[in-house]
Amino acid sequence: MHILVIGGAGYIGSHVVKALLKRNMKVTVFDNLSTGTKLNLFPQAKFIEGDILNYEQILAALKQNVDGIVLLAGKKAVGESMLNPMKYAFNNINGVINVLNAMVEANVNKAIFSSSAAVYGMPQYLPLDENHPVNPINFYGFTKLETERFLKWYDQLKGIKFVSLRYFNAVGYDEEGDVKGLEENPQNLLPIVMEAAIGKRDKLKIFGNDYPTRDGTCIRDYIHVTDLGSAHALALEYLDKGGESQILNLGTSVGSSVLEMVNKTQEVIGKKIAYEFAPRRPGDPAELTAKADKAKEVLGWEATHSSLENIISSTWNMYKNL
Ligand code: UDP
Repeated sequence: MHILVIGGAGYIGSHVVKALLKRNMKVTVFDNLSTGTKLNLFPQAKFIEGDILNYEQILAALKQNVDGIVLLAGKKAVGESMLNPMKYAFNNINGVINVLNAMVEANVNKAIFSSSAAVYGMPQYLPLDENHPVNPINFYGFTKLETERFLKWYDQLKGIKFVSLRYFNAVGYDEEGDVKGLEENPQNLLPIVMEAAIGKRDKLKIFGNDYPTRDGTCIRDYIHVTDLGSAHALALEYLDKGGESQILNLGTSVGSSVLEMVNKTQEVIGKKIAYEFAPRRPGDPAELTAKADKAKEVLGWEATHSSLENIISSTWNMYKNL
């Protein structure tokens, strides 16, 4: 199978590329390098610099005998999406429409789409299964949900089969050190904890310690990107065998609080992390955990790299020599 990985030079994309190469797929990376970096490219994968907002560019890439795509390109900072919804509408929705239309024109009918737990909004019960009502509370989550709706229509009308993967909190780095790029200006917890550990920032601000959780800080389901990568490979193989379209959670069902992440990091790396409590961040649910049984049933997928130790040590390997 020849797979076009759109956004394959990014943080999650590069781990997906590695997983597909491992399963002997032929990979072409399509990326505009806005947040991705050439450091994340693999020599075995061809690279096309291009933008999904440019219809001719994405169409030309898809016409190179591509059997399927993984679509990761998109904006992903929740906070920014609330301040600049125009940017998110433009990139995450217009971009996806371009890709889908180009797929129809190029006769490509398999798509793996990077979705998010943000589609659910405030949990009515936990862990969240795929039948939980979807009611995003931030604009980023709204763009992901709208894309899933586009996919359903393009499946029904144009036969594009898709697997939409709702990631919980993507963390960690390739344990073999093959992914070399670090995200610039990270917005997520673990990279910020690492930057505090190496003195790149004064301290971590913990957003809220008055949540109704065991220690007052938010609980999330942290999933290693190597596990995310293998899910994409399995999803492509599933569609290749004629599987029907699916929406699947990717998580561990284990929740960790912000303070637990900080304490575990201190233990694993043997350094103190300076932190202070700060006000809650708007749009943060107290707790999010995934029920990922469906991904196991449909794909045979399970998280096997997502212990907190492995998540933290693989991330620390990237930061410790900065
Ligand atoms: N968080 C924090 N300080 C930070 C960044 C994140 O306390 O500087 C918290 C955030 O409020 C959330 C958790 O860490 O409860 C994970 O946040 P992240 O932005 O990594 O992912 P999200 O859950 O928003 O997708």
